[in-house]
Amino acid sequence: MTALASLLAQRIREGGPITVAEYMAECLLHPLHGYYTTRQPFGASGDFTTAPEISQMFGELLGLALAQAWLDRGAPTAFTLAELGPGRGTLMADILRATRAVPGFHAAAQLALVEASPRLRAVQAQTLAPFGKVPQWLDHAADLPDAPLFLAANEFLDALPIRQFLLTPAGWCERLIGLAGQRLAFGLSPPLPQVPDAPAFAAARPGDLVELCTPAHQAVAQVLGPITRHGGVALFVDYGGWRSCGDTLQALRAHAFDDPLAHPGQADLTAHVDFEPLAALAPRHGYDTQGAVLTRLGIDARAERLARGLAGDALQSHLAAHRRLTAPQEMGSLFKVLALTSADAPLPPGFAA
Ligand code: SAH
Repeated sequence: MTALASLLAQRIREGGPITVAEYMAECLLHPLHGYYTTRQPFGASGDFTTAPEISQMFGELLGLALAQAWLDRGAPTAFTLAELGPGRGTLMADILRATRAVPGFHAAAQLALVEASPRLRAVQAQTLAPFGKVPQWLDHAADLPDAPLFLAANEFLDALPIRQFLLTPAGWCERLIGLAGQRLAFGLSPPLPQVPDAPAFAAARPGDLVELCTPAHQAVAQVLGPITRHGGVALFVDYGGWRSCGDTLQALRAHAFDDPLAHPGQADLTAHVDFEPLAALAPRHGYDTQGAVLTRLGIDARAERLARGLAGDALQSHLAAHRRLTAPQEMGSLFKVLALTSADAPLPPGFAA
């Protein structure tokens, strides 16, 4: 049993079963035992790898898309360049390197990073030090400055706590985590008097499980504040689909799937993102697969250019990274990109009009 499992068991004995969201929040961000607070999750030695860690091309192309969107909006002279959940800071470093040549972009940008983990904030500071722009770290998207906003978030929404609801013959019940003897175990609440008014609930049939990620709705709404008031673009990249469809809570430990209740605090816990309700919050959105967006942004030409300087193993791993980011059977189809902007502005490059 992990230290966090003992604490959770104690909490459940005293206060009764907890929601999946409460469980996820403790597992990921508990100040002493949380996954993001205590671990270095990314990279070959970690539990999983992410698009910016796979290849510099991912951040370069997103950076250039954001810079083009900034130019399309008249190049506002003071704006926020932001990222939610920057991990090791690799994506922002690639964005900054790729946009160095865009006249005025760096000079006008105020860097803002929304990051909950103090340990990862320190890693991000180190990664970004060479760029000479001191970022501002924020606890919440709600703290983003009231200014034009150009923002990227990769695998941020999937780390936010979800609740799960099951349509049983007796009505909607919430999936809870309680104890079976000494062990954590899933169970169900009594039938609920009401559930949220959302398409996924309305369309459900008996036996269906619907997930709800209120913190994702809040984060997106908070990002849209500055964008609708002052202009800008947000790019959310994550795995998931248009609408919630079943249990997607998953745990990853050392690059393998794990039982989500087996190692609280020692495994990464995520859920697929439902983009439909998030897109609905924005005046204007674009939505496509990661493969399609990166292809429209020119990843094939960029990959070819980088390949010219490589040989042997380095070339093979570069070609594999290109495939991994774009091929439908790899990340190309499962991962989606949601672009959000204001009603009167064009979509950023990368999206079909
Ligand atoms: N974007 C990075 C890391 C993804 S992991 C990459 O693609 O490699 C998720 C990131 O979100 C981590 O940096 C984690 O610490 C941060 N995070 C998770 N929950 C958060 C929350 N509620 N508020 C702020 N940051 C959070």
